[in-house]
Amino acid sequence: MKKPRSRRKVYKNRRQSTSIFFMLWATFTVVTLSIVLLLGGTQVIALEETYKNETGRLLMERGARINRAVRERLPDPFGVNYDAYVRHLAQTNDVHVYILTGEGEVLFPLEDNSDSIYPAYGEEYDFTQKIVTLKEELSSAGATAENGEFAVYEEKSAKGFVYGAVLPGYGENEETYLYVFKSVVMMEAVVSELRVRTLMMAIFVFLVAFAASMALSGFFTRPINEMTEKARRLAGGDWEVDFHGTEYGSEMTELADTLNFARDEISKADKLQKELIANVSHDFKTPLTMIKAYASMIVEISGDVPEKRNKHAQVIIDETDRLASLVSDVLDLSKLQAGIQEIKRNLFDLSSYVEDVLQRFDYLKETGGYRFVVEVEEDLYTVADELKIGQVLYNLIGNAVNYTGEDKTVKILLKREDGRIRFAVTDTGKGIKPEERADIWNRYYRSSETHKRPVRGTGLGLSIVKTILEKHGFLFGVDSTVGVGSTFYVYFPLEEN
Ligand code: ADP
Repeated sequence: MKKPRSRRKVYKNRRQSTSIFFMLWATFTVVTLSIVLLLGGTQVIALEETYKNETGRLLMERGARINRAVRERLPDPFGVNYDAYVRHLAQTNDVHVYILTGEGEVLFPLEDNSDSIYPAYGEEYDFTQKIVTLKEELSSAGATAENGEFAVYEEKSAKGFVYGAVLPGYGENEETYLYVFKSVVMMEAVVSELRVRTLMMAIFVFLVAFAASMALSGFFTRPINEMTEKARRLAGGDWEVDFHGTEYGSEMTELADTLNFARDEISKADKLQKELIANVSHDFKTPLTMIKAYASMIVEISGDVPEKRNKHAQVIIDETDRLASLVSDVLDLSKLQAGIQEIKRNLFDLSSYVEDVLQRFDYLKETGGYRFVVEVEEDLYTVADELKIGQVLYNLIGNAVNYTGEDKTVKILLKREDGRIRFAVTDTGKGIKPEERADIWNRYYRSSETHKRPVRGTGLGLSIVKTILEKHGFLFGVDSTVGVGSTFYVYFPLEEN
């Protein structure tokens, strides 16, 4: 058995690991927050893109219209009151329109003519930089005054889009330039507003998620805490605790069922252990009492009568043997179960080994009238721990002798079966009730009925058998019919000699 962890270590473990409560809470919050930020972010980007595309398209349409309108007035587009005409075009198309010289001077609209459609752009009448870009864009688009081609591009510094075209000369200028501008400042305002809203929403969602996840984590961890508390009580020996988790979902129900099962098993083991102490101390006490009584008898009565003295001394010897075998059984079992005694496998002739073990029961044939029906196939070899298998065979045959019926018959069989060796011992006794069949293999279990026992039993026989066979990994079991008898069987691996 593994040593239980010390309390200190358990406590240390608890401090080191993060609680489920925190993990649930953190995951929930982070996930919700990421979703909100992701949705908000993609919305901002999508809006920006759509707005820009739409503005570009709009500008291209309106720029072309203005370009056409200007050219329709050829050969003298800059006739009388041209300033008003440009303003009219700008106003009707909801854009800014400028006619520029090659150096970036504004020809139209006239500077001194203040008008409501250009209020905020007074300073943008400085086109010295912008004209350079405009010219570059136009030349790469291959636009000339004659072909009326155009260029559309984004002007980041002015936060807008530009439609440009080359126009015929005016005054001493060889060429003039049409500069149509559509601002996207509105969109930027909307986007930044959206950003603020997303952020606010994120904060709000964070707070809601915080509270909700807190409640949810509490809901999920409550049954765990509850079960921990109950498991602690169980560890303290309270077999009355009842684990239940139906109100928390199927996993918790399953866990609760498992824990209830563990509770039943542990309490059973505990009960058996207590019974053992009672049984063993009783079993120890009986021979001790006998030894004391006969020793006293020798001292007081039979010391001088050799015949009687020898008889009494023999009782003392027998009882001492009984005590010794009880002690060695208890020791064997605890050593086996603690893993101190390991299995040493070797190849041996199981057939003759069974015969050897049977010889130990010969005296019963003569003195007790027992009948052994033996059917042992020759030369069956197996690999196992010979001595321990001897114990198994002896215990199983001994039990059959103890529990067989009136006819005092025990059948022993050893034969090849499906590439293995089957060993079976059958009695004609009362059989074992189905509800007792699982328990008989447990340490200290004894059925409630009492028997006359020709072979000494300590109540540990079958648990020794079980432990040894489990250590070997061999298949074993019992078939029993109440009122007819039982067959205990073991399958050994068949090995070539
Ligand atoms: P013991 O025989 O010393 O009581 P065991 O561990 O060998 O201890 O057996 C445990 C219990 O299993 C027995 O008390 C008996 O109730 C039951 N049992 C074992 N072998 C048989 C059998 N061949 N027929 C009926 N009952 C049996």
